[in-house]
Amino acid sequence: MIELNNKRVLVVGLGRSGVASALFLKSRGARVTVSDAKSEDQLREQIPALLDAGIAVETGAHGERTFQNQDLIVVSPGVPVDAEPLVQARALGQPVIGEIELASQFLPGPIVAITGSNGKTTTTTLVGEILIASGLKTLVGGNIGTAAISLADKATSETVIVLEVSSFQLETINTFRPKIAVVLNVTPDHLDRHRTFAAYVDAKARIFENQQPDDFAVLNADDPTTVELAGRTRAQVFWFSRKAEVESGAFVRDGQVTFRRNGPEHPVMPVSEIPLKGSHNLENVLAAACASALMGCASEKICAAIRNFKAVEHRLEYVATVRGVEYYNDSKATNVDATIKALESFPANIHLILGGKDKGSDYTVLNDLLRQRVKSAYTIGAAAEKIQSHIKSATQIVSSGTIALAVKQAAAAALPGDVVLLAPACASFDQFQNYEHRGRAFKQLVRELAGISNVSSPSREPQK
Ligand code: ADP
Repeated sequence: MIELNNKRVLVVGLGRSGVASALFLKSRGARVTVSDAKSEDQLREQIPALLDAGIAVETGAHGERTFQNQDLIVVSPGVPVDAEPLVQARALGQPVIGEIELASQFLPGPIVAITGSNGKTTTTTLVGEILIASGLKTLVGGNIGTAAISLADKATSETVIVLEVSSFQLETINTFRPKIAVVLNVTPDHLDRHRTFAAYVDAKARIFENQQPDDFAVLNADDPTTVELAGRTRAQVFWFSRKAEVESGAFVRDGQVTFRRNGPEHPVMPVSEIPLKGSHNLENVLAAACASALMGCASEKICAAIRNFKAVEHRLEYVATVRGVEYYNDSKATNVDATIKALESFPANIHLILGGKDKGSDYTVLNDLLRQRVKSAYTIGAAAEKIQSHIKSATQIVSSGTIALAVKQAAAAALPGDVVLLAPACASFDQFQNYEHRGRAFKQLVRELAGISNVSSPSREPQK
């Protein structure tokens, strides 16, 4: 555990985890400064609580001197690790860590950490609900909901911490050691920041860095990149697969989710009783079942918790049926692989709304599914032109520009039995504050189409 009393600590970046870190550090006696390049006006919601706590706040730019003579620098996941002031600070020998590293030093119980390009939030929520249903003292957080550091004051050595961790958060760990590390899949994403796929895989693989032989790694046997990762952990490897039986881990046999550990097999539940759409969600369920079984949960409890599970908002969320056309909100499909999974969840007759802020993606990989299942693609946002040039031979393209026009045009073209799907394969920041904002805009447009002001959503409220 790091000694914080009277230490000079700088927190860089005032996102949710930055604010939580600053307040935690201050409460443990550190002399805290926070620095964010955004303007005071942009940070007006965050600043009062920090000033009230006696934290020094720098906005508008990162002053060179702010980074000097600190005992510790805690950097937010939104700040690139190679940002110039951080490079200089490291060169001066000042420790630079992320919030997950800081938190892990103050979380005494076992950690189940879940990463992957897609499915983290769904799987993290699932594992949390299974552990709770099994009677384990459990707290859930990280990249989802509550920042990991905010769990520190509530956690005892008996508390299991279930953490969603992103590649950005893993880049700034040091001693972080999960009891169970789950890697769901690794497909190209965030290449605008990690630059190469290899660098992105390396960041994900850091989840294993401090694991020991009595820890567990849970890996996707159907994903070639995660299969290769097995060679990069000292932990005991358990697999999950929806396609083949695995020696140790979770798989499907005769329509049953089954868990096998060192020989004995435990049937968990029929696949037909999983209340989530799409084969990708079967993968999430298998991963969650495997991790929970390794934490000692009984099959009946795992089954009951999964059966009661509801899709998280913006993840292939059913919105409404209007004039025989089903509308689904998958605004969280912010990369090409998630869009592929969304398309695979519907057999045909899809009207796909695609576009937003490009992340250096290759959209040509959508072409097979576009040809087979999509009637028209409606492009929106800054990436529209690039997307059109990548997919032009695969489907009919309507250049909509905005989500409002896309919904209107799709609704006009769709026939009863068709599906209108928002699965944009892009980030949202060109036209929206975030993917939740985009998803809510879509749902509101659908409600207006339906002539209803408020359709109750069958999904859970987001934790984010
Ligand atoms: P994350 O937290 O990793 O972004 P989410 O559970 O929020 O994951 O899902 C993000 C998007 O990826 C959604 O569009 C969802 O439908 C899709 N998705 C969920 N699980 C998987 C998976 N295992 N493989 C591929 N796509 C997935």
